[in-house]
Amino acid sequence: MSKKHGKADKKNTKKSAGAKGASKKSAKAAKPAGKKSASKKIVPGKLVYFFGDKGSDGDATMKNLLGGKGANLAEMAGIGLPVPPGFTITTEVCTAYDPKKGTYPKPLAGQVDAALARLEKAMGKKFGDTANPLLVSVRSGARASMPGMMDTVLNLGLNDATVEGLAKKSGNDRFAWDSYRRFVQMYGDVVMGLKPESAKEADPFEAIIEKKKEKLGVHLDTELTTEHLKELVAEFKAAVKKFAGRPFPTDPKEQLWGAIGAVFKSWTNERATVYRKLNNIPEAWGTAVNVQSMVFGNMGDASATGVAFTRDPGTGEKRFFGEFLVNAQGEDVVAGTRTPQQITRVASREWARQSGVAEKERASRFPSLEEVMPECNKQLLAAADRLEKHYRDMQDLEFTIENGRLWMLQTRNGKRTAGAAVRIAVEMEKEGLIDKNAAVLRVAPDQIDQLLHPTIDAKAAKTLVAKGLGASPGAASGQVVFSAEEAVAAKAKGIKTILVRTETSPEDIAGMDAAEGILTAKGGRTSHAAVVARGMGKCCVVGCEALRIDYKTGVMTSNGMTVKDGDWITLDGATGSVYLGQVPTSQAKVSGDFSKLMGWADKVRRLGVRTNADTPHDAEVARGFGAEGIGLCRTEHMFFEGNRIDAVREMILATTLDAREKALAKLLPYQRKDFAGIFKAMNGLPVTVRLLDPPLHEFLPHSDEEYTDLARKTGLQKAQLEQTGELLHEFNPMLGHRGCRLAITYPEIYAMQTRAIIEAAVEVAGKGVKVFPEIMIPLVATESELKKLRKLVIDTAEDVLSKKKKKLAYTVGTMIEVPRAALVADAIARHADFFSFGTNDLTQMGFGLSRDDAGRFLPEYVESGVLDDDPFLTIDQGGIGVLMQIAVEKGRSVKAGLKLGICGEHGGDPRSVIFCDRIGLDYVSCSPYRVPVARLAAAHAALTK
Ligand code: ADP
Ligand code: MG
Ligand code: MG
Repeated sequence: MSKKHGKADKKNTKKSAGAKGASKKSAKAAKPAGKKSASKKIVPGKLVYFFGDKGSDGDATMKNLLGGKGANLAEMAGIGLPVPPGFTITTEVCTAYDPKKGTYPKPLAGQVDAALARLEKAMGKKFGDTANPLLVSVRSGARASMPGMMDTVLNLGLNDATVEGLAKKSGNDRFAWDSYRRFVQMYGDVVMGLKPESAKEADPFEAIIEKKKEKLGVHLDTELTTEHLKELVAEFKAAVKKFAGRPFPTDPKEQLWGAIGAVFKSWTNERATVYRKLNNIPEAWGTAVNVQSMVFGNMGDASATGVAFTRDPGTGEKRFFGEFLVNAQGEDVVAGTRTPQQITRVASREWARQSGVAEKERASRFPSLEEVMPECNKQLLAAADRLEKHYRDMQDLEFTIENGRLWMLQTRNGKRTAGAAVRIAVEMEKEGLIDKNAAVLRVAPDQIDQLLHPTIDAKAAKTLVAKGLGASPGAASGQVVFSAEEAVAAKAKGIKTILVRTETSPEDIAGMDAAEGILTAKGGRTSHAAVVARGMGKCCVVGCEALRIDYKTGVMTSNGMTVKDGDWITLDGATGSVYLGQVPTSQAKVSGDFSKLMGWADKVRRLGVRTNADTPHDAEVARGFGAEGIGLCRTEHMFFEGNRIDAVREMILATTLDAREKALAKLLPYQRKDFAGIFKAMNGLPVTVRLLDPPLHEFLPHSDEEYTDLARKTGLQKAQLEQTGELLHEFNPMLGHRGCRLAITYPEIYAMQTRAIIEAAVEVAGKGVKVFPEIMIPLVATESELKKLRKLVIDTAEDVLSKKKKKLAYTVGTMIEVPRAALVADAIARHADFFSFGTNDLTQMGFGLSRDDAGRFLPEYVESGVLDDDPFLTIDQGGIGVLMQIAVEKGRSVKAGLKLGICGEHGGDPRSVIFCDRIGLDYVSCSPYRVPVARLAAAHAALTK
């Protein structure tokens, strides 16, 4: 669960420049103008910043230098919250640190000594003192939070002598030795390297503890006596010495530098390196190190440690949510070894109800903080409220209670689900904490995708059969079918299906539409299945490499499990997981808060948002999501419906103009009807129709039977049909006889389509529908192509209009998808009313990357950092983006008012949307379910300019 969250999060930081803008903005909002600015607090040459003793050297604006944890500790102390004093060693030291030589910038040692002396004075304790020892924690803390990636050591400063002092001073032997035991364990792991070598191995220290407990016949850590803890310390030290080949350090100073070095080293450990890569965190940022005086949650029953959120991170509801453990330290709460207790009584009762714990047992064994330490509870709630108002965002807190006294150990903006993000943003606006623009910036555009699709019920039990790539989010359950026809047939009977294919092709459209979800063994996130499914807003998992499909027997196998035709499976299109059976899903609702937020977004954005839709149904869905027109209506999918494909094939295989025109005449009424339906759905809004684009062989029969069937239906010779089919076959679907090239050789095709468009427009206009057809010619590379085809379109349209004695406004434009077209965009613009960037093809051709074959190496390119991103997912701004800019400039140089849009898949990618705004496009167009994402991204673009 937490892993999944992490992943969603990553995507957000990575994909949405807007999200970054958001955090920047909110940090600004948190720091009212007029206060001492960050720059004044940053002192050149200063490597150590003190916090927590009557104010701090740093503050929350200094995350780059002090890391998130250090900056927020300084801020909390600065506003007077109880923070154990300490100091932060800056990220600059990390950058300068050489992990091999272990050398630091020269002035560091002196500055650390001075800070330590100041800390001793503030605490009235001395580091290494045998009577009253100061103990510290050494905590990592990068600019961006990297949960669990780096290390922390607690109770540092203990040795055989100081532990006695701690025992005497606290009057609590067990506490002192428990702390010592924890210290040796953490230091032995983090600094001296005694840790499990693989995930399968047990933790060596836990193994020693387990052995001891077994020998003693006890179960809980709390049953170990002081004597046992003393034995454990000795055994731990022996194990560390044996492993590291040197004794456990007794000098606190040596311990301190060992821990500081280990934290800096942990910045480049494998875990952290991988995490950074996934989250786009530059290595150059470095981590800070926080050295902080210890407070003890393990001092007895008046002590505790816990974590909390100021609002529910799952739902966004405004209610304090947190957990704690009595007599515990550090990460005990999240470690899951003891059942944590709830902070408020209300939450505690609810927890008990859900866990089947009776009230009596709850009150005695799992009471809330409110019940056991009412005073601390009050202080905690007050601190939480204060922090939330101060940061103007939901906070994730860590605290410790030492002998009835509350200490704050960490605060940061809490991670949250999409639903929570929306609710919190809207409610905080209502509460006056933030303004509407800030609220819009609080929600990452990518995140809201989650809100538009049903999702897997996280609590449900499930069996994983296969894992692929989540290509289109949402969840879907259905009975397995292995062909599109079966999916269609099942739907007619009201049966829910999941269409499972090795890969899909345009022919499968009807089946994909009929199925609840789509699963393919091959292909990436931009494969046919993925693109079409996203367009339909349908759950889809692709690239399930382990999946073996046997169409003949109707069986698929994966991970040693077998699934047959008709068996139920469930897909999670967000994570790419495939489960056995019917896993319950929950229907995500577009709540009132969500539409309110989208309304605010619409007010500030400049960029228009249209949709790519091929059917009236898609058009309606997109309109419901706020689409302001259709940016791409592909005509070829219409060709597969019903028995139209026969006429299409007849047209393609015709060897004379006459025969071709006859076949086209059969298609005309179908197309007219389709266009009329779409125009009606988009009443009042523009509709860009792209004339036929794919190479003709995509429509050809695939089997002997299909040829026989076609020969029978058309009365043509089968052998001749097959021969023509052979001739038309193209291996590379990218660069051959397709797009406008089809119409240069067969003008009658575009003539028929234009006729259908204009006739449909006149027809619906006659019924009061407001139509704005925009006819778009694909794959143009030269001025003369467009010049010629524009004339063809206009002549045809005018012919229709004059025959019908009607007037109708329409425009003719082109796609910019061949790199050459971008380079000669000024010449092309003379014949175009608009440009629409086809960034899928522009990327393929401009990058020399075949989309269908790139899967073999592209993932590795991204993984190894040769490429920062998959250029099919987000616009390659440094290359393909430059082509777009050239086209924008050249196009507008001859036609200032040239309308510009984008209709590639990138139109729904937030980073690409922001780029499109920056280069001055008029609109983006994306699949219906991405429309709200694009609207929000467009607002982020406007607000972060
Ligand atoms: P992470 O970044 O992994 O959350 P932290 O540096 O926050 O690691 O440390 C983990 C936990 O250790 C904290 O939540 C807190 O409970 C405990 N801890 C850290 N420093 C101190 C301290 N000075 N006194 C008491 N507990 C501490
Ligand atoms: Mg922490
Ligand atoms: Mg194209």
